[in-house]
Amino acid sequence: MKNLFIVVLFTMASVSVNAQDKIGEICKWDFDKKCAVALTFDDWLTTHPTIVVPALQERGMTATFYVITKDLNQNTITQINTAAELGNEIGNHTVTHPSSDVTIAEEARPAKERLDAALVSQQVLTFDYPYGAFSNETIDSVRKLGHIAARGVWPPSSYSYNFAPNDDDYYNLRTIGVGAANGANGLTTTAQFASYLTKAIKGGGFITYLYHGVGKSSDYANIHKDSLYAQLDTLKSLDDKIWITTVADAIKYHREARCASFSGIEIGNVNPDIYIIGLVDTLPDDIYNQPLTVKVYNNGNTFCEIRQGDEICPILYQTNEYVMFRAIPDGGNISLKRGYWDINSVQDINDIATISVNNKTIFVTTDTHATVVFYTLTGKILSKRTGTCSFSVAKSGSYIVTVNGLPKTIVIN
Ligand SMILES: [Zn+2]
Repeated sequence: MKNLFIVVLFTMASVSVNAQDKIGEICKWDFDKKCAVALTFDDWLTTHPTIVVPALQERGMTATFYVITKDLNQNTITQINTAAELGNEIGNHTVTHPSSDVTIAEEARPAKERLDAALVSQQVLTFDYPYGAFSNETIDSVRKLGHIAARGVWPPSSYSYNFAPNDDDYYNLRTIGVGAANGANGLTTTAQFASYLTKAIKGGGFITYLYHGVGKSSDYANIHKDSLYAQLDTLKSLDDKIWITTVADAIKYHREARCASFSGIEIGNVNPDIYIIGLVDTLPDDIYNQPLTVKVYNNGNTFCEIRQGDEICPILYQTNEYVMFRAIPDGGNISLKRGYWDINSVQDINDIATISVNNKTIFVTTDTHATVVFYTLTGKILSKRTGTCSFSVAKSGSYIVTVNGLPKTIVIN
């Protein structure tokens, strides 16, 4: 363990940030991921609550389900509320699933009112055109009712972040059909499923997949349940790059991020170790309450605690340039506190250091190439660093490893 030594990182350099400096940046997607993906399931088929919802829950994932309201009864209302409580989105797919864009526009309101009344903990925010049929008038009707986006059935034309240069583009969200009955664009293999994820990661945009039948051969565009599991596992394996979310949350994020900005900064006026900043947007706060992931420049300081109002905002990552965390636009002042916590205990046995902080234990070891490897208790590698290393532990339950003088903060999982 000769390359590893403990230091107390407490460099209280004089604060040089002023109001003219750029405060930070807003990440394009949550957790600074490269793209966003939403799985959508149409028509609330009988296997959606029995196969799809549990498969998502098992993997800690959520999706969007578009419901036809004529199918609502006591049983299905309980089912959609259970799905919603797990974080899934329930969206509007009209009353009777008509094929004319005019009737679709007419049915948008009664379907939304019925769903909003049926859902205990969620407001309906997105729409799904039956058969993908819509016109400019349909878009206007759907938008006026408070839907923030709508999904059609057409395949993606672009994978870029700027998929919605005009507001109408949010009401023409493209999708990748799953299952053979969707025709030429209906993918059937895991490899095909994965190929679109690769495109999304490269393009940095937002894609949706469209499912119907899962595990019931008589359902439209049915796929075997094992195919769904394989696709979910493939998606999950890429979740360090992909924000797996719902249509509503992805669109809320995208709309907020394009208009949000940092507001006035006040540093150390009351307490020299507390920075106060604001994060604002121009959207109605009753709908647009989605947290944004932001990077606030720290001018070489390190922060140990971030709050928005009374809520702690966990530190997601920290370098010598910025601290990354999530905050809600117009959600109140954000205060950032400088400083560190002490390490509770350190044992160094046979080149393996065991560090305990906040009742969590992590291992640190060195290999023969003087690479310092940080592991969690479950054996997951947190970090590998080469060079002269030292570490300390920050107050938020994260720890800082300093490599060649540059501190990095990593949250303990
Ligand atoms: Zn449908």
